Amino acid sequence: MTGSAFLEVNGVNKYFGSLHVLKDCSFSVTKGQTVVLIGPSGSGKSTLLRCLNLLEPPSAGSIAFEGREITGDLRNAHKLRAQIGMVFQNFELFQHLNAVENIMLAPMKVLGYSRLDAHDLAVDLLHKVHIPDRADHLPDELSGGQQQRVAIARALAMKPKLMLYDEPTSALDPEMIREVLDVMTELSADGMTSVCVTHEMGFARRAADRIIFMERGSIIENATSEVFFSGEASDRAKQFLNQIL
Ligand code: ADP
Ligand code: MG
Repeated sequence: MTGSAFLEVNGVNKYFGSLHVLKDCSFSVTKGQTVVLIGPSGSGKSTLLRCLNLLEPPSAGSIAFEGREITGDLRNAHKLRAQIGMVFQNFELFQHLNAVENIMLAPMKVLGYSRLDAHDLAVDLLHKVHIPDRADHLPDELSGGQQQRVAIARALAMKPKLMLYDEPTSALDPEMIREVLDVMTELSADGMTSVCVTHEMGFARRAADRIIFMERGSIIENATSEVFFSGEASDRAKQFLNQIL
């Protein structure tokens, strides 16, 4: 164990009833790293991601975030979640709020920002995700790619230490996938630590430091992206790649 890891997942198991969904999963993430999590549908990727911010408490094993064990006492889970941004496949924006209001809400409610400061922050973040001109639009007036970028901006408004993405481009039309991946790539290049579940292997090649391949609840492979994409991946991982490419 490297005591200095930013995120350290150790022997995590998860059961839903008698269904053993995560089996002794261990990996670590260093500050600033981007880790891409891949694997077949049902292999436990979303569950593992949700364990990282305690949306799902692990059944066994431990997770340390910035050197502190987080799995022992779930009463502080909300404090942890405030430091970890999460982006979902289906955006999950507040439909009755426009783009800028979606982003302003958490900084005002959780971080105690004034309306004015929250508005300034939201406008800055809309620039960062390249849609400053969409501030006044409601979610249903935005394209899927724009909605997902508002969702990313909304997560960033909490100044997260870690970003979790669960198939953020899976619900998007092909022409909008790139604009979302570009924003994620820029954030990674800026040093945002992130764990991304995605099947976008172009993004994985460009942005990932490590690739973790899961199957049936187990981590089968955890390699640097150089090793993974240089033909040294396991046969099982190669087979999976061939299916999705
Ligand atoms: P992936 O994201 O890789 O597709 P999931 O983590 O969503 O996989 O699911 C892994 C397994 O756990 C699947 O068999 C799924 O049906 C099951 N599962 C996920 N969430 C729940 C839940 N809340 N209750 C029961 N079973 C679940
Ligand atoms: Mg999933």
